[in-house]
Amino acid sequence: MTTIQDQLQQVRQRITAACQTAGRAPDGVALLAVSKTFGADAVTSAWQAGQLSFGENYIQEAVEKITALRDLPLQWHCIGPIQSNKTRLVAEHFDWVQTVDRLKIAQRLSAQRPPQLPPLQVCIQVNVDGGPTKSGVTPDAALALAQEVATLPRLCLRGLMCIPEPATDFVTACALFARARALFDTLNQAGLALDTLSMGMSADLEAAVASGSTLVRVGSAIFGQRSYPIG
Ligand SMILES: *Cc1c(COP(=O)(O)O)cnc(C)c1O
Repeated sequence: MTTIQDQLQQVRQRITAACQTAGRAPDGVALLAVSKTFGADAVTSAWQAGQLSFGENYIQEAVEKITALRDLPLQWHCIGPIQSNKTRLVAEHFDWVQTVDRLKIAQRLSAQRPPQLPPLQVCIQVNVDGGPTKSGVTPDAALALAQEVATLPRLCLRGLMCIPEPATDFVTACALFARARALFDTLNQAGLALDTLSMGMSADLEAAVASGSTLVRVGSAIFGQRSYPIG
């Protein structure tokens, strides 16, 4: 087994243990392997250990990897900020986009999604802790944005995603994740059939699972320390 395969196994065990502690079914939490800054060989190694879904932040870097690995049956999630001039590349290459936080970006992704591909699966990114520099729609504006995104023909709205500031302790982390969970429930009560709540990373996946995450995004715990810093 490679180090990546070994670490992937450990992350899967952490998810299973967190589900047990929370009284949740272990198959209720999916794992997205965040491969940003790591090469196609690292992705291939994870794929050989059964990992099919990968997350990328940088569009150009991602498109090169996706193209190099197009013969593997992988699913690619865009989890980085998207500028208007990158929407076409995203619409053409990714399966999922988790970082929709403006109607304009959603409209462009829908218009630019190639007709031969299935609809792009999207999550709305919510800024649950109000950090001024961070991406994400405010919780107050999430329902209105979600209702508009749900009408776009080439997008399929699946849920919400959040990246709270790293908390120093479990209880604080849970309190932030609980805001996303409450919003998720509110949107579902409003009639949007959401099934994905994307939250939790290497350092805080246990708190996210305890708070209702259905998809954890894990990078460094699988692939190792990144050699250049990425937001
Ligand atoms: C980099 C990144 C991750 C993974 O972070 P790790 O701490 O390496 O697990 C998850 N989500 C987003 C949005 C990221 O940018």
